[in-house]
Amino acid sequence: MIEVSQKCIGCTKCVPVCPFAAIQMMSKKAVINEACTLCGVCVQVCPVEAISITREEASTRDLSGYKGVWVFVEMSEPDDKASARKIKQVAFELLSAGRKLADDLGQELCAVVLTDKNRAYEKELGPLGADKMYLVENPELFEYNTDIFSTVVTALINMHKPAVMLYPATIQGRDLAPRVAAALYVGLTADCTGLAIKDGLLLQSRPAFGGNIMADILSPNSRPQMATVRPNVMKLSEPIYGKTAVLVRADIKIDKSLRRVKVLERKIMRECGTLKISDAKIIVSGGRGMKTKEKFKTLEELASLLGGMVGASRAAVDMGFKEKARQVGQSGTTVSPRLYLAFGISGAVQHIVGMRASDVIIAVNKDSNASIFNVATYGIVGDAHEILPKLIEALKKGAKGC
Ligand code: FAD
Ligand code: SF4
Ligand code: SF4
Repeated sequence: MIEVSQKCIGCTKCVPVCPFAAIQMMSKKAVINEACTLCGVCVQVCPVEAISITREEASTRDLSGYKGVWVFVEMSEPDDKASARKIKQVAFELLSAGRKLADDLGQELCAVVLTDKNRAYEKELGPLGADKMYLVENPELFEYNTDIFSTVVTALINMHKPAVMLYPATIQGRDLAPRVAAALYVGLTADCTGLAIKDGLLLQSRPAFGGNIMADILSPNSRPQMATVRPNVMKLSEPIYGKTAVLVRADIKIDKSLRRVKVLERKIMRECGTLKISDAKIIVSGGRGMKTKEKFKTLEELASLLGGMVGASRAAVDMGFKEKARQVGQSGTTVSPRLYLAFGISGAVQHIVGMRASDVIIAVNKDSNASIFNVATYGIVGDAHEILPKLIEALKKGAKGC
């Protein structure tokens, strides 16, 4: 329930910010009509705290009207006003995961696109499983902005009531999802590594207590059930060629005064010729078992012969063998290359959660009981310092033979 108290001084600040034109001034007082979706934006702008929202006790709410699985579609930031924003790969990964959830629930999978201009995104999102695309098109959505995006997403959720909402655990998603969760007064499970449906509820799995246990989290009393998932955690499913998402345009008013932060200049740092480890197709990783920085460098030679990049466990990073940007795992980067080679890495859960989505994993460890072998496609029990030079030599010979 929303109420305007006697404190209202009639300043009218709340009127333009309401995305649903739900506030009118009557006798110099703000009056709220039935178009209100309880998004909470007016509460934030009122200078005298005259507006208050009272939310129902979670367990007493009827949640049966909440249906569908939604995915927030993150776009690349524009390099300049003329360049087109592209859908990021992580959105396709989330749609692949979302499709399975929607099928299990027997409900729709919907993509949420906020953009200045629709570039037929529904044709790209359909083949990855989206049944519908909710589109908000407005010049104010040219680039990401916390206040504007969170207001629009909150408004959309209040209008259409999805059961599940997934966001990427990227800089943007990690900024947006908590704002929406706070506005809606619902929970949010960050950095999920597994999602499933259990008894009609979203089962959200993620490492907890420093990665020592996997926690399964359910939100039975709030909707939507919201989670963030890192890039490269969910596998892409096979595209459904020819499928197009049904376009649903949402008419949401966006007032410029909502924008409290303005980007004056954008400087994009590009390391010429270098790839990010999250994008590498082949990764040759080393751990503490590589012993020294000098010996670790052998991995560079193997990586260059295979056309891949060198990664590292946290122990290897802590020992100064490789820079932090190459750390694979829970507190590093999540990767899913076609081939992941692990030399002298034990396979602690914090490392595994960052690389287990790789297509093929080859592990070399002198301890046959090392946990890394539990996720490896191929395992070699032996000394990395003996196996590596032999592998390099064989690859060089093979290259000459071609
Ligand atoms: P070790 O566990 O010491 O394993 C070394 C392995 O090398 C052993 O299995 C040994 O048998 C093998 N070995 C030794 N000599 C040889 C040889 N000559 N030939 C072949 N094998 C050999 N870790 C990460 O990697 N990434 C993360 O993002 C991450 N985040 C973390 C976050 C938190 C909150 C915490 C608490 C921990 C995190 N860790 C992370 C640390 C993690 O728990 C492990 O400590 C770390 O992954 C161990 O690295 P390692 O496998 O290289 O070393
Ligand atoms: Fe408008 Fe949101 Fe305020 Fe309701 S809570 S009156 S929808 S701004
Ligand atoms: Fe009244 Fe607050 Fe709205 Fe100003 S912002 S008109 S004080 S309710």
